[in-house]
Amino acid sequence: MNEQYRPGLLSGALLCLLLTWGTVSYAQVATLADIDRAEQVGWSDPQAALQRLDKLQPQAQSSADLVQLLTVRGLAYADIRQDEDAQALIARLHAMGRDDPSAEAASHLVQVHLFYQRDQYDRAQAELKLIGAEATLSELERYRLKVLRGSVLAFAGQQEGALMAYEQALDLANAMHSTPRVVQVRLKLSKLFMFTGNLDLAANQIATARRLAEQSRDEATLVGICLQEADIADRRGDQAEDLRVTREALAHAQRVGSDQLLVVVLCDLGDSYMKRGDYTASLGYSRRALELARKLHRSAREQIVLFNMGIAEIGLGHLAEGKRRAESAIQRILANGNPVDAQDMMHEYLPALERAGDWRGAVEVYHRNDKLRDQLLTTAREQALLDLSAKFQDERRAREIELLKRDNAIKSRDLQAQRLRQQMIVMAAVLIALVCGVLGWGISRIRKVNERLRHNSEHDALTGLCNRRYFNEHVLPKEGNRSFVGCALLVDMDYFKRINDTLGHPAGDAVLAAASKRLANTLRDNETLLRWGGEEFLVLLRPMSDAQLNLTAHRLLNAVRSEPVVWHGERIRCTVSIGCASFPITGAAIDVSLDRAISLVDKALYHAKRRGRDRACMITLVNVYSEQELAAINEDFEDAIADRRVQLVETVSATSGTYRTLSSIGQVG
Ligand code: GH3
Ligand code: MG
Ligand code: MG
Repeated sequence: MNEQYRPGLLSGALLCLLLTWGTVSYAQVATLADIDRAEQVGWSDPQAALQRLDKLQPQAQSSADLVQLLTVRGLAYADIRQDEDAQALIARLHAMGRDDPSAEAASHLVQVHLFYQRDQYDRAQAELKLIGAEATLSELERYRLKVLRGSVLAFAGQQEGALMAYEQALDLANAMHSTPRVVQVRLKLSKLFMFTGNLDLAANQIATARRLAEQSRDEATLVGICLQEADIADRRGDQAEDLRVTREALAHAQRVGSDQLLVVVLCDLGDSYMKRGDYTASLGYSRRALELARKLHRSAREQIVLFNMGIAEIGLGHLAEGKRRAESAIQRILANGNPVDAQDMMHEYLPALERAGDWRGAVEVYHRNDKLRDQLLTTAREQALLDLSAKFQDERRAREIELLKRDNAIKSRDLQAQRLRQQMIVMAAVLIALVCGVLGWGISRIRKVNERLRHNSEHDALTGLCNRRYFNEHVLPKEGNRSFVGCALLVDMDYFKRINDTLGHPAGDAVLAAASKRLANTLRDNETLLRWGGEEFLVLLRPMSDAQLNLTAHRLLNAVRSEPVVWHGERIRCTVSIGCASFPITGAAIDVSLDRAISLVDKALYHAKRRGRDRACMITLVNVYSEQELAAINEDFEDAIADRRVQLVETVSATSGTYRTLSSIGQVG
């Protein structure tokens, strides 16, 4: 072989390889797509689906493809009730299922479908439970499972479960972007809603399905959609619409060219015309349907068509012929074990006989229908009662347990809350009592402290007498500027400084304390004695005569001078001098207030000191007519004495109570 041809040979070989790979992968895709298409055809025409699958079988490449192929074939066999073929496929899938879980699931799926077609919904439900973990299945397999579960549950009377299964199927169909499957589920949903009496929801679903089917020009599916729309129109009593869409269904079926579809549509058309009372047209369509049903060996369909024909003939006046057909159809349907369909037929048969005037026949059908209904009801009621009582028992037990739990929970919660409330109340009460106690104690403490402080601030610590502050705050405000009525005496220790200077301050203190005590003892309890300041005292007495005042002054002088004060063995002699006067004072034409009175007696005290101490000087007269004159007397007391505006007397004898005036040294009695 020449060297220069080598690259050409190599590229040729590569091209062959690529072509081979391309062909193989194309064949595989084509097989899956074809299986898919066959499955979709099978939804309306299982026979046609089987024919397509027959052609595909040799192309099946992988085990996965084979499982799909066998599944779709199995479902189609079940649809046309070739039960033995279906069983053989189930066994084959089951055998493959030892190594392949999806084959095992497929075997159960076909079995479920077979039970469903035989109206064995309980067994179908039990079989559904055998399908293991859904997670191992492909989207397509899960989709088939959900649709089938929905159909089984719908016929088993579990509409809610059916709705949920269909909705899951719809999600899967959307996820797979498979418009035919979306349409299929919506068609099923529409049937479910119609079955539960919700015609609006049923119409919504079918409208969506129609839009999608029209977009993809899916004629076969449009047949199913039209027939569903016709059913909805029939339920709504809209016979014109019922007929219009059934005729549209005929057009679609004819375009598809499927006898399976045609037989259904022709049968429905016969029914629609019959309901409108157009018996001739009804008979025409029913005859065509009968022909096809016989050709396709659809015996159930054949009986329905024969029945419709019987009713149409009764309508046309051929009573005997019509009754014979209708009766025979009802008997066969009953013989096939389908009492519900038989009852539906009788519901149409009875009014047809009435319309034809066959009252005897009508009454007879009425009684038969009644009997059948009783039979159906008894069976259904027994079953329903059993189901109900089991369900009721379970529910009641569960509810009782739940109620008991809730009751206990509520009780313990209430108890806890009550305990907490009680604890809080006790705590609050204790707290309030504590706070009140502390507050009360605090307030009484503060009161006591305040009282002590006030007492201390108003009393002299050394003598225990009230002080000048007490006088200013309690005595003076009571008197104010009004005329003072009573006696005022200012008492001052004589030569007190000397005691301090010679014996020390503590000795002075002791003398001061002793003298104050002596003064106090001389006075009555209701008479006022104040420490006026330093070694000076103020005495305020009730009003009395000058003679009485003179005697009191002497008692005070004597009380201090009588005994020496003994301090640390030291005998200390002490005396006092006194200035005093009784108010209102003779000669005064004006009011003399307490502080003016004290100033006047202070002047008298000064004179007692000047005249040698240990004596009392008393003012007995003040000739005064105005405040100014009183102020002037205070300014210059000496002058006032000299010109007799003031008369001052000095006590001379403590015992006689006599005294003499300083201004006119003579005795006044
Ligand atoms: P007279 O007879 O003129 O009143 O002479 P006196 O020494 O008593 O008067 P003076 O006003 O010269 O002195 C009063 C003294 O009293 C001055 C002061 O130190 C003293 N004194 C005032 N209060 C107290 C006190 O509480 N305790 C003591 N120990 N002495 C006091
Ligand atoms: Mg003094
Ligand atoms: Mg003095």
